[in-house]
Amino acid sequence: MADRPMLERLVKLNDVWLSRKDVLHGVQRYEVSTKKIRIHTDCGEVITVNNSRRSASARALRNSKYRKVCKHCKLSDERINRFVAKDFYDPGITYVEATVKKSAPKKVMKKGAGSTAVTSAGSSTAQQTAAANSTVQQAATTENNAVQPQTSASAPAAASVSVPATTPIQPTAKENVTVSANEKYSPSQRKRLEALLVSDEIDLDSPDLPPFEELEAELVSKRKAELVDIYENSREHMLAKLERDISAFLISKGFIEIKSSILIPEEYIIKMGIDKDVELSKQVFRTDDGKCLRPMLAPVLYNYLHRFGKVMPDPLKIFEIGPCYRKESDGSSHLEEFTMVNFCQMGEGCTRENLVQLIDEFLTYLGISYEIEGDECMVYGATVDVMHGDLELSSAVVGPVPMDMDWGVDKPWIGAGFGLERLLKAKYNFKNIKRGSRSEFYYNGIYTNL
Ligand SMILES: [Zn+2]
Repeated sequence: MADRPMLERLVKLNDVWLSRKDVLHGVQRYEVSTKKIRIHTDCGEVITVNNSRRSASARALRNSKYRKVCKHCKLSDERINRFVAKDFYDPGITYVEATVKKSAPKKVMKKGAGSTAVTSAGSSTAQQTAAANSTVQQAATTENNAVQPQTSASAPAAASVSVPATTPIQPTAKENVTVSANEKYSPSQRKRLEALLVSDEIDLDSPDLPPFEELEAELVSKRKAELVDIYENSREHMLAKLERDISAFLISKGFIEIKSSILIPEEYIIKMGIDKDVELSKQVFRTDDGKCLRPMLAPVLYNYLHRFGKVMPDPLKIFEIGPCYRKESDGSSHLEEFTMVNFCQMGEGCTRENLVQLIDEFLTYLGISYEIEGDECMVYGATVDVMHGDLELSSAVVGPVPMDMDWGVDKPWIGAGFGLERLLKAKYNFKNIKRGSRSEFYYNGIYTNL
């Protein structure tokens, strides 16, 4: 296979390492992970780099030039000569440097495309084509998120596309950014600043803001200090804490806590009438064994109302808090993985007044302002919408509703469901709901990539 070798192979063959400053070190040992290689030099340095065939390190090792030899590594002349002479390469292998214009369009090998049906704009030999082809497959499998599939008029019909071997597969948006005279920050700088802002603490359109580097540094140090403060003091994740707070509140109000399965039978969804609501039905994550990730807590709570209704004294008060899943496309207020709390009461005292009173105590306890609107709902009958500005916090219901029959529930009931991430968005004035969600990018609303 004609191809430039991975960095790993070059390290193994050369048995030496070239530092950034072209200092030649001996390689004592190295470890390889899926993407990285970690080199331990004879002098005790540890370097971790991408195990790529295109990196500067790989290029340096393919060449034979070095500036000086590390005196701590005590390299023998033989090892140095080996590196310089490069007589260890397999003569059957041709190492190709395909020369292609940097601006050449990026194309991606489609799945299942044969390795022979490839054209490469800048290469003329079969080996070069093969090398490019291999690189394409590599790129297509490892960086498929970074490249946009394109079709080319010049490519043969059989789904055959190629990528120039030396073109870095990277988003080029950054390079194309132009800063107009009246805009202080470029789009990418603006994106970075927005990520660093927790809410709307700074108006990025304000005319008297410092230069990007200055503002970025200021925000980064602020966010770092906040994270350290959390670590030294509370150590609580806001979503987990909210769940605990809600739990404590509802238990104190006489509700019993339930934890049920996140994977539920798909028939529950049908029983909830969701199959008739085309949009909601499309949002359900189904598994291949007739189950789905629960898009709501209601079905199992219905079963609990039925079962505990026969056991517990009247009124019965139950609640559950936990993850729910819906395929969502609308980003800033919706999550595909979110946390719901549902509380409901069955039997005595199930009036609209009591429901509104309970919601008021609940949101007052959490320190969240709200307005109440009446509305009709697809799944239930009489609903009470709880709003925070334009953000719907809850759709609460005063039963009974006709669906109760299907679940064996024959007493009046009241209930409300809240999305915890929405409660956090409302409470902390987050611009994006992801700030308070399960995430590796945000911790308690703070961007983690600092
Ligand atoms: Zn050294």
